[in-house]
Amino acid sequence: MVCDGSRGATARRDRYVARAKEHILPRVERHARSFGVRYGRARIVDSRYRWGSCTARGNVNINRRLVKAPAFVIDYVIVHELAHLIEPNHTDRFRGIVRAHAPGMEGARSWLREHGQLLEESI
Ligand SMILES: [Zn+2]
Repeated sequence: MVCDGSRGATARRDRYVARAKEHILPRVERHARSFGVRYGRARIVDSRYRWGSCTARGNVNINRRLVKAPAFVIDYVIVHELAHLIEPNHTDRFRGIVRAHAPGMEGARSWLREHGQLLEESI
């Protein structure tokens, strides 16, 4: 019997990407507005290594797997990446900016530490 797992996995991945776009991209826009920060493009990406990243050109990438996280965690990752457009390094200033825009920062960080294995799952 032929296992059709790969096609099922692709469909599941597509659904996650669609959901991630729907839930996460409008939040990036909203946070950017409240920050008063400009970004190039926000994209949902597939990464095994990071929840979010930003590029030198000011584009923001968010891991599609983040759609499984609670809202305060999603907000923290978005705020973290947008804050890098103001302060590239993890300095005290950076942490101050993030904390001001994502009050759930500490809880979100421990959630991400605990659920880091989500990055490894094949969805
Ligand atoms: Zn960072």
